[in-house]
Amino acid sequence: MNQLQRPYYPLSEFLRERFGCRVSKIPVHAGFDCPNRDGRVGREGCIFCWNPSFSPALQESPASLTEQIRVGREAVKGAGIDRRKFLVYFQSYTNTYAPVEKLRRLYDTALAEPDVVGLCIATRPDCVPGPVLDMLEGYARRWHLWLELGLQSAHDRTLAVIRRGHTRAAFEDAAARSSGRGFYVCAHVILGLPGEGRREMMETADFLSSQPVQGVKIHHLQIIAGTPLEAMYRCGRVAPLGLDEYLQLVCDFLERLRPDITIHRLMGDVLDDSLLLAPRWPEGKAQVISAVERELRLRGSRQGSRWLPDKGKNGWGGADDEL
Ligand code: SF4
Repeated sequence: MNQLQRPYYPLSEFLRERFGCRVSKIPVHAGFDCPNRDGRVGREGCIFCWNPSFSPALQESPASLTEQIRVGREAVKGAGIDRRKFLVYFQSYTNTYAPVEKLRRLYDTALAEPDVVGLCIATRPDCVPGPVLDMLEGYARRWHLWLELGLQSAHDRTLAVIRRGHTRAAFEDAAARSSGRGFYVCAHVILGLPGEGRREMMETADFLSSQPVQGVKIHHLQIIAGTPLEAMYRCGRVAPLGLDEYLQLVCDFLERLRPDITIHRLMGDVLDDSLLLAPRWPEGKAQVISAVERELRLRGSRQGSRWLPDKGKNGWGGADDEL
C-alpha cells in the first residue's frame, strides 16, 4: 500500500500495483436469478433489494453478454478515461447460482473479450458449493478474480430482520472454503441497517478484519421505492443516516479494518435516482469520498489505525446476544 496517497487502501491502487495502469470494471447482468427470490431460500428477497436499481441493465431481459461488455468498454473510452484493461463484473442477482457448465460458458464468454483481464463475481455466501470454488480456483491460475460475498451485517439478528436467508456462519464457512485458492474475496456490508447502532456496525468491522477477506465494499442503507424497506421507512421503523453521521461511521469502520484489506466502495449507488426515497444527500459520490479522506486526515488516523488483531475472532464476548 502506498501510505502517502490515501488514508485507506482503495481497490484502484491495488489494481494499479498489479497491472501498472488503471483498470475499469464493466458491470453486466448475465440473466441469473437469486435463491432468495425464486423460493429455494425465500420468495420476497432482502428487504432493501430492488436489484434493477443497483444493476447495470435496468431491464429484466438484458442484451447479450458480449454486447453489454462492448457497450461498457466504449462508455469508459468515450468518457476519455485512459483504461486499457477491464474486469467484467457479474453484478446482478446471484452470479454463481447455476450449474458449473453454464457458469463456465458465461465466464469464458466474458474473458474472451478484448482487454478483459479478469472477473468480479457477486454472489451469496450460501451459493458457493465446492465444485464452483474448484472451478474458480482454476480460473484464478490464469486470470485476476474476485469473489464478492454479500454479508451486509455480522449480526444474525439483523440478517433475519433484513431477510437475507443466511447467517454469519454461512459467510464464515464460504470465506474459509474460498481461502488459499488463488482468488480474492470481497465482502459487501451495509451501514445503517434497521436495529443497528454504531456498536453493531463496528463489530461487523472487527469481524471482517478477523476473516480471510482481501476486500470490503461499504454501502450506506438506501431506501428504494417499491421495496419492503419503503414501508418500514414510511412508518418510522427505519431512519436513514444523515451524511455527517455516515461520514463518522465510515471513518470509524475503516479505522477498524485490517490495513491490507482493499476498499472497493465507500458508499452505495443507485442508477435511477428517481427511485431513491432516502437519504437524499446534497453531495455526490466524489464529494463523499473526499469528505471521508478529509475526516481521516483531520483525525490523524487511517484504515487499520484502530485494528486489534485478536478482536472479532470469536464473536464479541457474547455482544451479539445483547443487541
Ligand atoms: S441476495 Fe441479492 S439479489 Fe437476492 S434478494 Fe438479496 S440483495 Fe436481492
